Amino acid sequence: MKTNADVEKIIEMSKKFETLAIRTQTETTQFSEHSVPLYLTSGFVFDDAEEMRASFAEEKQRDLYSRYSNPNVNEFVDKICAMEGAESGYAFASGMAAVFSTFATLLDAGDHVVSCSSVFGATHGLFTKYFPKWNIECSYFNIDEVETIENLIKPNTKFIYAETPTNPGVDVLDLDFLSAICKKHNILLVIDNCFATPYLQNPIKHGADLVIHSATKLIDGQGRVLGGVTVGKKELIREIYLFSRLTGPSMSPFNAWVLSKSLETLAVRTEKHCENALKIAEYLENHPKVKWVKYPFLKSHPKYDVAKKQMRLGGTIVAFEVEGGVAGGRAFFDNIKMCSLSANLGDTRTIVTHPASTTHAKVEPEVKAAVGITDGSVRISAGLEHIDDIIADLKQALG
Ligand SMILES: *Cc1c(COP(=O)(O)O)cnc(C)c1O
Repeated sequence: MKTNADVEKIIEMSKKFETLAIRTQTETTQFSEHSVPLYLTSGFVFDDAEEMRASFAEEKQRDLYSRYSNPNVNEFVDKICAMEGAESGYAFASGMAAVFSTFATLLDAGDHVVSCSSVFGATHGLFTKYFPKWNIECSYFNIDEVETIENLIKPNTKFIYAETPTNPGVDVLDLDFLSAICKKHNILLVIDNCFATPYLQNPIKHGADLVIHSATKLIDGQGRVLGGVTVGKKELIREIYLFSRLTGPSMSPFNAWVLSKSLETLAVRTEKHCENALKIAEYLENHPKVKWVKYPFLKSHPKYDVAKKQMRLGGTIVAFEVEGGVAGGRAFFDNIKMCSLSANLGDTRTIVTHPASTTHAKVEPEVKAAVGITDGSVRISAGLEHIDDIIADLKQALG
């Protein structure tokens, strides 16, 4: 009978994304299930006192309690690590649990962080509302002024934090450039890779120390469950794990089981999402009522060359602005018929969002302006419906 070791031999040799996504899996039980079962259990049992002692002392590697680890969660983490080329990882209940727990582990009172100014709304909220309370300072750089980053670094700077592409501006940052600065100043590089997914971009291969994902978006891809994960250097993940096993932000086995299945189709889904997104971007670029369009794989994107260098495809998000300011934007949203008005992204359904009144409503007006969120800007998450139907809906809504 073939064993997991036989399968591992083949995937170890090829390291092809699609094969890793499907064949990296937990050992099955005595029932030889083809699809990995759901290990819906909070705890695990021990044979005797010695096994229990050795397990808790970490002399023996095994699952103890699902706040620490669980077979379904381990499989999900193993798959993400294989896809990102990471040594180790830990999975969380949501993307924000991953962001917060990573920060809380790495930072001490009195530390300083340098971040790109365009970050996910909730992450920005952590910087502005909670960092001051713990005496942690954050300095921001604008996407257009990356040359100024070095001037922001201080003796107490712990890491540079960035998203690329950014939410919701769809700006692109050069990962090689950022990691070179971090190496020079001996600080860490932490990247939120949510918009790119592990299929489109692998920041660790460009020198990042830690990579964070909200698995809620394209990794689930079907708008069902929340999840998050941080992967990277073994010794850093060890600290994140120790923090998390005390504080309890862990991913549920059920969500891990759903997300592990989703990863098996990430490559094919993402290819199609990106194909539709590019067609949407090209359509909008030629529309007279559209002021501007931003999509990493459009030649007009200011960082088109960087996007081409570090991303396999342009991603699923297109940003644009309708002529006519707030009124123009509102009319567009009110006229949309098929696409969903929602704040989520990376779903099978095409979603249109108004960042200024939703995800970024609590962000200060000057910060919104700096990161290019105008009252009329629209963010589209290209779904998997037929492209003709998506374009037809956008066309009638713009008309
Ligand atoms: C959605 C999102 C998050 C937060 O993830 P949740 O799973 O909603 O907690 C973090 N970063 C980015 C870039 C996101 O889009």
